Amino acid sequence: MNTTAGTLSLQDKLNILADAAKYDVACTSSGSDRRGRKGFLGNASAAGICHSFASDGRCISLLKILLSNECIFNCRYCLNRSDNDRPRATFTPEEICTLVVEFYRRNYIEGLFLSSGVVKSPSYTMELMYQTIYLLRTRYRFNGYIHAKAIPGAPEDLIMKTGFLVDRMSVNIELPSRDSLKLLAPHKSPENLIRPMRQIQQGITGHRLAIGKDPQMERASGIQYLPHTIFKDNPYKKLGSGKQLPGLFAATDSSSSFVPAGQSTQMIIGASGETDLELLSVTQRLYQQYDLKRVFFSAYVPLNEDAALPDIHTAPPLLREHRLYQADWLLRYYGFHAGELLSKERPNFNIMIDPKCDWALRHLEQFPVEIQYASYAQLLRVPGIGVKSARRIIQARRHGSLTFEHLKKMRVVLKRAQYFITCGGKMLHRIPIEEDFITRRLTCDNSGKNWEISHPETYRQLSLFDDFHIDGDVTVEDSVKTFSGQM
Ligand code: SF4
Repeated sequence: MNTTAGTLSLQDKLNILADAAKYDVACTSSGSDRRGRKGFLGNASAAGICHSFASDGRCISLLKILLSNECIFNCRYCLNRSDNDRPRATFTPEEICTLVVEFYRRNYIEGLFLSSGVVKSPSYTMELMYQTIYLLRTRYRFNGYIHAKAIPGAPEDLIMKTGFLVDRMSVNIELPSRDSLKLLAPHKSPENLIRPMRQIQQGITGHRLAIGKDPQMERASGIQYLPHTIFKDNPYKKLGSGKQLPGLFAATDSSSSFVPAGQSTQMIIGASGETDLELLSVTQRLYQQYDLKRVFFSAYVPLNEDAALPDIHTAPPLLREHRLYQADWLLRYYGFHAGELLSKERPNFNIMIDPKCDWALRHLEQFPVEIQYASYAQLLRVPGIGVKSARRIIQARRHGSLTFEHLKKMRVVLKRAQYFITCGGKMLHRIPIEEDFITRRLTCDNSGKNWEISHPETYRQLSLFDDFHIDGDVTVEDSVKTFSGQM
């Protein structure tokens, strides 16, 4: 049943377009710190928005909607693909502004996450998104958090203009290889997806340079400055007193930051045949080459009957998604590389134990490490020791020998660490350092948690505090800092 947008009430559209947005998980909000301003509505907190969850487990602190679920494309994994006979709707920019402002005033939301299907063309869709956000920021003086999708194929200037109005932007990679894209989303190509991502990255770098926030980058060679013309019609621009840098736009004040909360992306897990190694290698490249703030993984929920996709009754691979989040954490904070965690011979994670334990079990020759002498890098590789507890150990051992009791107080997870450490030359228990034995013990310990992850009562979206389970020493406060990029 196709329904024309003109016959729908605002409530009908909201029902359709909020529901259509729920499979996009790349929407945690953080990294922007903007105080309330006189005459403006809202602010954006550095600690991110504390999400609450609706009855179906979905995040509701951001109004998460599509501008339209109409789409000219036919990605086989997508509910909104053109072949699907579904109720369709498109908001006008004014309608979205009304919803945001009214919901904000009622304290239902603290920001907006705006994505869209491709209506008519990428340019047309991006123009509508830009108009919406422009209206919201100028006529409605909305000063709260906004995360917008960049539509691949849209003109560069539209993406750049939007970037000056929002806090975060994202371009969804969706599928991590050319072959999968060809099979499941034939109108998309890696080049087409990477182009706006590169553009946003350059915009962020250029803006940081212009306001003198990153002098090291200024000295670094090889940064491609964007042409001045792209920036000169920044609609939100308030020129500050900063100097004009050659080839760049004039320094601006913080109200006109370009994508201050950085960019993110999302990859679907399980719709195509890539291994964890392939997924993690792409993730690593995205962090290294495009300066991404986060890569989100989304366990594929079968929605369409299609011979090229998993059967409609296949359960979403939630445990696999969880392992990938843990591995992502190891890449970003523990100094691991994708090639260390997985190999061509062993391209997928053992879903029964976390990736750090898995790595340690395959490198038992490096254990046990002596807590009194191990370097910070060595400590970080011990299962059960996290960033904070490793720092505490380094500090505390300057003042004397440490015992297992001390480690426990430092929130080292001894249940895992006991197999890999000695204190004063002794292990906690007399146990064999043997792969099979330790694997059995760790698998047993993890089985309850694994069951919970793979059998959720409801299909729940990643929350602000998920994926902080690697080593148990990260507090909620740390989590908030980390999401805010302050660690
Ligand atoms: S372009 Fe986006 S909305 Fe359209 S079918 Fe593909 S994934 Fe779905």
